[in-house]
Amino acid sequence: MASSKLHPDSAILIIGAGVFGLSTALWLARGGYKNVTVVDMQDTAASGYNPDTVDSASADINKIIRFSYGAEIDYQRLAMQAAAEWEDWNNQFAATTDASGLPADLRPDGAGLGERKLWRNCGMLRMSDGYQLSEVELRTLENMEKEGIREFQFRTDDPIDIDRAEKRQWGHKMDPCHRQERFGVHKAVLDSTAGFVVAYKSCSWAKYLAEKAGVKFILDPLRGKVIDISRSGDAVHEETPLVKTADGGGWTPSLLPEVSQLLETTAGSVVTIRVPQERQDLWERYSASNFPVITWRMDEGNGIYSFPRDEEGIVKIGYRKTKWTNYDDVNGLRISVPKTAHVTEKKETRIPITALEGIKGKLTHSWPEYIMTNLPDLAEFGLHSTKLCWYTDSIDNSFLVDYVPGRPGVAVCSGGSGHGFKFLPILGREVVKILEGQGESTPYGKLWGWRGADMTKGRNGLEEGEDGPRVLAKHRMASPQDWKI
Ligand SMILES: Cc1cc2nc3c(=O)[nH]c(=O)nc-3n(C[C@H](O)[C@H](O)[C@H](O)COP(=O)(O)OP(=O)(O)OC[C@H]3O[C@@H](n4cnc5c(N)ncnc54)[C@H](O)[C@@H]3O)c2cc1C
Repeated sequence: MASSKLHPDSAILIIGAGVFGLSTALWLARGGYKNVTVVDMQDTAASGYNPDTVDSASADINKIIRFSYGAEIDYQRLAMQAAAEWEDWNNQFAATTDASGLPADLRPDGAGLGERKLWRNCGMLRMSDGYQLSEVELRTLENMEKEGIREFQFRTDDPIDIDRAEKRQWGHKMDPCHRQERFGVHKAVLDSTAGFVVAYKSCSWAKYLAEKAGVKFILDPLRGKVIDISRSGDAVHEETPLVKTADGGGWTPSLLPEVSQLLETTAGSVVTIRVPQERQDLWERYSASNFPVITWRMDEGNGIYSFPRDEEGIVKIGYRKTKWTNYDDVNGLRISVPKTAHVTEKKETRIPITALEGIKGKLTHSWPEYIMTNLPDLAEFGLHSTKLCWYTDSIDNSFLVDYVPGRPGVAVCSGGSGHGFKFLPILGREVVKILEGQGESTPYGKLWGWRGADMTKGRNGLEEGEDGPRVLAKHRMASPQDWKI
């Protein structure tokens, strides 16, 4: 349906039960839309979005919740609004006595659940590698000052902030890597409002809320897999797209080729280390009570981040310096496509050796290595796993939420660009406004609207194409023999 035609009984089909689909479905149902269906080619719910079986950006063990957005104050504001919702979800989740519709590990009597929390306010330490904070960091602090939240940020080089951190019980997270002692310098800012969410539980919770609000789900490799979206071609239904699923015909991953000018599929490199519970010293040290989320050199947009250990002792570390591409033929176009189990036979869990060395450390490497520099006491365990996690990046790292030009009734809601998860409880509120045609009058409608791509300029790496250096096939991939640190 076109924006003007959207009415409470409109049949709305959402393709994909990840963060963007779930949040949109939830807010449509809350807004009174009665005929909303989410389809997905993976049965995401069967395993409770277990990252071992569900291959998507959203199905993960944890994701960062942060408010630091440099000069991008609209994202900072939306993240703050999302934080209030996360708090509310935490309370609702902890209080729910309803077991129906929840996967086993979210039920009130769920075994091995650990804390009944979706989001954990463990703080986030934004560490710089050098002797000064970056420009992006300074803009972040300025914008936080503007919004009245600067007092929750603690600079490690400011005696007033250090004192405030101590008084508010955050002192122990100011320099958990002992950088001042080891390197004589530690330039960082601890954000005491940030932390992480347990991603798979949060997706299950959002699906549960959406279902309760009346959303229907078809999560099935055949009936839920959309292979084509085309116009109906008849005058009566001219604005009703036809959606073809895999149980009715051929197969193509290219649903909307027109977005390939604006969005690119890229892969992030993620590794884990397992801390054994018998090592009580490290088990305690890396718990969320004692260890913050850390980002390192992220102000340059290309650093490394890590989480405290989870309930199983898993410490996740991600590498953002380079996001990889994987080019393939799609309907006559060469575009980057994910190498995930449900898209290709050639699922890839290995990561390029360059990323691995950047994360774990290698003396001859020019990139400063994360584990050996910052978490050397974990080195003895070696790596536990590696994974490629597929992003949809936009040309400017802003989301893309709008009707697709020339395709009545079809909207795109994507382009998470590595930072969409934190908005799960609130993203759909803004998406619905855009779908209802109010996008022009909202900051997010303007930010996320369909935009022309200047083909003569850099487009977040998309312009590199297949000749660029990020193509996975050009890299030697790490194998388990390389996991020793
Ligand atoms: C390595 C990595 C780290 C990240 N870290 C963070 C973080 O710390 N904090 C943060 O806020 N954000 C983070 N993000 C970003 C966040 O995870 C994404 O923005 C968000 O999960 C994207 O959700 P999505 O719904 O667009 O995509 P996905 O979660 O990938 O979901 C898409 C769904 O669509 C389904 N689908 C695809 N094609 C079809 C089809 N043809 N038919 C039917 N179903 C289909 C898939 O099966 C899948 O379930 C990270 C992302 C990555 C990759």
